[in-house]
Amino acid sequence: MQRFTYTDYAREVIFGPGAVARLGEAAGRHGWRRLLLCTTGSQRRGGQVAAVAAALGDRLVAVYDRTRAHVPAEQVAAALDLADGQGVDAIVGLGGGSAIGLAKAVGLALEERRAGRPARAKGPTDQPLVPIVAIPTTYAGSEMTPTYGVTRPGEGGGPPRKVTVTDPKVAPKLVVYDPELTLALPPDLTGTTAVNALAHCFEALYSTARNPLSTAAALGGLRARASALPRAHAAGDDLAARTELLAGAHLAGAALASVAMGLHHGLCHVLGGSAGVPHGVANTIVLPHALRFNLDATAAQLAPAAGALGIAPAGPNEVAAAAAAVDWTAALIARLGLPRRLRDYGVPEADLPRLARLAAESGAVRANPKPATAADVEAILRSAW
Ligand code: NAD
Repeated sequence: MQRFTYTDYAREVIFGPGAVARLGEAAGRHGWRRLLLCTTGSQRRGGQVAAVAAALGDRLVAVYDRTRAHVPAEQVAAALDLADGQGVDAIVGLGGGSAIGLAKAVGLALEERRAGRPARAKGPTDQPLVPIVAIPTTYAGSEMTPTYGVTRPGEGGGPPRKVTVTDPKVAPKLVVYDPELTLALPPDLTGTTAVNALAHCFEALYSTARNPLSTAAALGGLRARASALPRAHAAGDDLAARTELLAGAHLAGAALASVAMGLHHGLCHVLGGSAGVPHGVANTIVLPHALRFNLDATAAQLAPAAGALGIAPAGPNEVAAAAAAVDWTAALIARLGLPRRLRDYGVPEADLPRLARLAAESGAVRANPKPATAADVEAILRSAW
């Protein structure tokens, strides 16, 4: 077995249909009295904001409901002013990875403003001044991780760039998973954000930083996804499928939390921050191509995925089993009618070399188990275009 080291996080997780009703009681136990809610207009329209407000009562002192995809820096500044003005002591992210990412960014920025010095953790067990609560309504997995991305304007009028921050202080202290909050997630977002979670499982399996816990969680996440995703995609109101899928997302997020991601994620972040492709869409388009590129170097780690997905391996060896898992993923994406080509999402072909160069500079591409040059990354982008 290879050596391993990872950081774990002290947190409370509450999972199950109706779980959001327990939020007020949990906030009381944690001693939080003034909470800011970061969310989106669609959560307000869908009734999720009302459910959180009912649970928190007068502990909820402010709502920022304009979160946009990829967390633009000016939204962090606006929500920070709101949080500061209201004297909040904890921040709730309700929604997909964007709303939860905004909550994390504001938490760290508020600590910095109050303390008057950099808030970044000095060690892996440092605790935050302003804890984060996450209530996910997609399957993206941000609720379990110490990471967020903020999109900043490009230097000298250049294209915007998404900057990723990893800090143990932003790992949520309370995570509430309520599958009932996901019943209205439309089929396209159900599919693409669940493929994002699939990607977390695959990249965790072959991560250069993998450990026994991340591997077990990744295989569990794949197992949950195999049958629940098609069912939840076909019938959004299937609570049993939604519950299974959300439990799988929890496992995928847990796997993601303690490992470094690879080339696939590096590419998706650049496609999101610099080309405006929604994160789940980028994941769905890129995943089969990135997995195929990595296949020869990662077959031993990917092979168990075939068993977890319930596929009879195409052959007796690891390469055949790993290839079967990758083919299964590509076939599922096609069968559900999910996005498959970057050209359909406004990415100009002429922009591929620039995007490839940006991705090749990312820490995730550099942490890929198989070395990848800018030319390799460009070839992957071309195959996905
Ligand atoms: P998102 O948060 O951008 O949401 C996409 C859309 O779905 C939004 O319009 C939102 O309002 C809508 N939505 C969310 N839940 C809904 C529901 N239940 N019903 C109806 N509509 C709903 O998308 P996402 O894919 O969840 O998150 C992507 C973002 O999260 C990216 O910025 C990505 O980088 C980040 N992310 C971070 C991590 C991490 O570890 N930090 C992990 C995964 C994703």
